[in-house]
Amino acid sequence: MSDGKQIRRGRCLCGSVQYEVEGEPRIVAHCHCEDCQRLTGAGHSTGAMFPTDKFQLTGPVATYQLQSENGNQVTRVFCPSCGSPIFGRNTAMEGYLTISLGTFDDSSKFTPEVVVFARNRNPWDSMDESIETYDAQPHWNPRDGA
Ligand SMILES: [Zn+2]
Ligand SMILES: [Zn+2]
Repeated sequence: MSDGKQIRRGRCLCGSVQYEVEGEPRIVAHCHCEDCQRLTGAGHSTGAMFPTDKFQLTGPVATYQLQSENGNQVTRVFCPSCGSPIFGRNTAMEGYLTISLGTFDDSSKFTPEVVVFARNRNPWDSMDESIETYDAQPHWNPRDGA
């Protein structure tokens, strides 16, 4: 049970994109950056970062590429039929992808650990203040630390 081999599944709104991912996320974060607000149409995105090689996806996807504030290449992957944002990749974190938490079949089991880009947070988007909060993107590498 607790050998870290847990398989979690998720899907887009219409169900044509499905995925599964093995193990535990490296980190779960809320992001208030402007790109995430536009992507989600809400006050922030919430994503769980997993190693790319633990992730398997079925179904057709569309991608959109943009450059982040720090000049990294960001790829957003979504369902071309219903538009659900499934995951994102960032060249700053090769080998990892960040799955949109709300697309998991059971996202209630995750615990967000950090809030990033709090400087872009709207007054109507109140958050749990006990979560570690950063004004922008901290210099953080998923290969560092525990
Ligand atoms: Zn869909
Ligand atoms: Zn963001």
